[in-house]
Amino acid sequence: MSQGYNPFQIAQQQFNSVAEKIGLESGVRDLLRQPSRILEFTIPVRMDDGSTKVFTAFRVQHNDARGPAKGGIRFHPHETLDTVKALAMWMTWKTAVVDIPLGGGKGGVICDPQGMSLGEQERLCRGYIRQVYKIIGPLNDVPAPDIMTNAQHMLWMMDEYEAITGARYPGVITGKPVGMGGSLGRTEATGFGVVFTLREALRNLGIDIKKTTASIQGFGNVAEYAARKYSELGGAVIAVSCWCREDNCSYTFREKDGIDVAKLASIKNSFGSIDKDKAREMGFEILPGQEWLAQEVDILMPCALENQLTSETFKKVGPSVKVICEGANGPTTPDCDELIKQRGIFLIPDFLCNAGGVTCSYFEHIQCNMNYFWSKEEVFEKLDFKMTSAFKAVYELAKEKNLYMRDAAYCIAIDRVAKAVKLRGWI
Ligand code: NAD
Repeated sequence: MSQGYNPFQIAQQQFNSVAEKIGLESGVRDLLRQPSRILEFTIPVRMDDGSTKVFTAFRVQHNDARGPAKGGIRFHPHETLDTVKALAMWMTWKTAVVDIPLGGGKGGVICDPQGMSLGEQERLCRGYIRQVYKIIGPLNDVPAPDIMTNAQHMLWMMDEYEAITGARYPGVITGKPVGMGGSLGRTEATGFGVVFTLREALRNLGIDIKKTTASIQGFGNVAEYAARKYSELGGAVIAVSCWCREDNCSYTFREKDGIDVAKLASIKNSFGSIDKDKAREMGFEILPGQEWLAQEVDILMPCALENQLTSETFKKVGPSVKVICEGANGPTTPDCDELIKQRGIFLIPDFLCNAGGVTCSYFEHIQCNMNYFWSKEEVFEKLDFKMTSAFKAVYELAKEKNLYMRDAAYCIAIDRVAKAVKLRGWI
């Protein structure tokens, strides 16, 4: 998963630079620049053909001073321990910036679930829990789905945990199916959260959302629901870019008068790819993949992949762009951050912008621990409150200290975790 760069080194560099800026004591620095616990283990799985395959897996807890560690489990053939370590660290900052009482963790298994039967996947999930049950639990570390893991995987994992511990603990894991401990609103939460922060940004910039246009990269879970909420608030999505598996490249789908998001969603598959032929029939213009960057719009929403806004691709971004909201994790490279600053574009950084997902997972965790479930409206109301409060705190600090929004978000998150560590007397 490293794609030529080491994510853990990047996570540490980002941390070091903010630690320096806020004058963090050396003991706290040493503690927070690495995970507090790493478990690397093997999972033997009986395959359908009778053979046994041994998978390598990880669970990393970066920090739990503010509450139980929280973070997904990824299944990927190129998973690495360093990726998992970086993601665990980023989860600590994400839960801290939205001020939910959780820490940061992440897990992974080196495997390709697409090449495994359901039975093999179930045995892998159960094997994972048999190895980690001693260090996870509703009160100490709460996993969730991530790349190539889904609600069914979470349910098998919960069931295995409950079988081992001999009681019902729905709060051990989030991202479960609705009706089996899952929260209403989780599907929409990340995309809606992106737009709640965007709405606040525009309000502060004195821009009427109804007069804005946007271009989006991706049309998966995050992008689709961001597009839906943004359109509902009166904005016009002009272009959407996504991946085409058959052609092995991406395309941008454009409708200059504003895309009907529900119509576009009706021709996408479960992987967030849009049917090109149907789109053409519906009258969409089909442009090369990178063209989403070059549209004359007010807002860019990278909601697909990491490293999409680089010093090279940024050359395509026109002068009309006023706001970038990072729905994806890590869509902007550090050198492009400098260009965004120079242009004076307002940035809503990823671990604030896309924190709606983990916030709703936190709501699932609460509901499971209470064994009492909320309506969808209640979930969205609470989500809006959390995202809006988090945005305000970061925005006010950025304004007061004249900081780039990413740096302000880091300052708040690191400061909150450092305080928790010190108050507990760990340092
Ligand atoms: P997804 O798999 O549902 O969708 C990914 C989308 O990206 C698809 O539409 C795909 O076609 C598109 N895509 C892939 N390669 C592309 C390319 N080269 N050019 C253009 N489009 C391309 O994923 P998702 O859950 O929407 O997640 C998207 C991003 O948001 C990831 O960075 C993820 O880590 C982050 N994120 C997701 C959540 C969540 O709750 N789903 C929460 C926080 C962060």
